[in-house]
Amino acid sequence: MIIVTRKGVTPEELDHIRERVESLGLQTHVSRGEHRTIVGCVGDEDLLRHVPLLSIPGIEAVHPVLKPYKLASRDFVPEATRVTLGGVEIGGEEVVTIAGPCSVEGKDMLERTAHHVKTHGARAIRGGAFKPRSSPYSFQGMGEDALKILAEVRSATGLPIVTEVMDTRQVDLVASYADMLQIGARNMQNYSLLTEVGRLQRPVLLKRGMAATVQDLLLAAEYIMSQGNPHVVLCERGIRTFGTATRNTFDLAAIPVLKRETHLPVLADPSHAGGRRDLVAPLAYAAIAAGADGLLIEVHPNPETATSDGEQSLDFSEFETLMATLRPFVAAAGRTMS
Ligand code: PEP
Ligand code: MN
Repeated sequence: MIIVTRKGVTPEELDHIRERVESLGLQTHVSRGEHRTIVGCVGDEDLLRHVPLLSIPGIEAVHPVLKPYKLASRDFVPEATRVTLGGVEIGGEEVVTIAGPCSVEGKDMLERTAHHVKTHGARAIRGGAFKPRSSPYSFQGMGEDALKILAEVRSATGLPIVTEVMDTRQVDLVASYADMLQIGARNMQNYSLLTEVGRLQRPVLLKRGMAATVQDLLLAAEYIMSQGNPHVVLCERGIRTFGTATRNTFDLAAIPVLKRETHLPVLADPSHAGGRRDLVAPLAYAAIAAGADGLLIEVHPNPETATSDGEQSLDFSEFETLMATLRPFVAAAGRTMS
């Protein structure tokens, strides 16, 4: 931590600043410049992080040297982490696609979708059983019936299941079926839910909140990891900005920033980012070029009848085309896909 003092700081104020820092177990080193005096604090920065240093007279600015997240940081684990769900590894050389409908609407549609996406290279099936809808009058998901269908389709296809958990009260139920628990954008800062999934050893797909910074996302991952669950995969799914041409604004740059800041795998969700099916392919290509470890894609047998997110869901032939046209981008990024 580096403390910059105010212009004209008095010797008494400076002594008090040093005493305060040293009383917490750190050492101080004072450098007197022409205009400002700087106090370098050496020792465990965490001891100072929660002290309201700016309220101490004479302090103008405080600059932490270390990141506020540790377990999620590249400084802590330099090698890329691989997260495995049902035998599929995310974060290695392979670009992993997780595909399926926004919501599970029935067994037939899920099974057909799963077989199709598997044939064209998807490595896991997604589908919401509990849906976080902006309106309470919209379809809320089929609940446990959908979880049972997901499990049946896993048996039929061998694809691991990714499904959302919205509430701490559902964690055990959803975890009794899912290979990977999705925490949606609206819940990224639901700290009770993060803590609860952190107590499990089940992989977690943590989607970026629509008003969350990259640091907020990494601190949310830290919540899960600090409870003992290191199996976290992050997902950029677009944020809210003043732009109205797309459902959200796809923060492409967040992908290489995350890859630099954290060892955790990073997926991209071009379906929710763009909100329109014609945007899915270009955003997917861009995500792979930017270094994403995989994609989350909404696919529906008949998007125009979908109970949620039909506008952004690919039909079967569009998914097939996407996967075929993705290959050169994957190869150019020095990655593989199945
Ligand atoms: C979803 O994946 O269907 C979903 C609800 O995503 P998000 O939380 O990113 O809006
Ligand atoms: Mn959706």
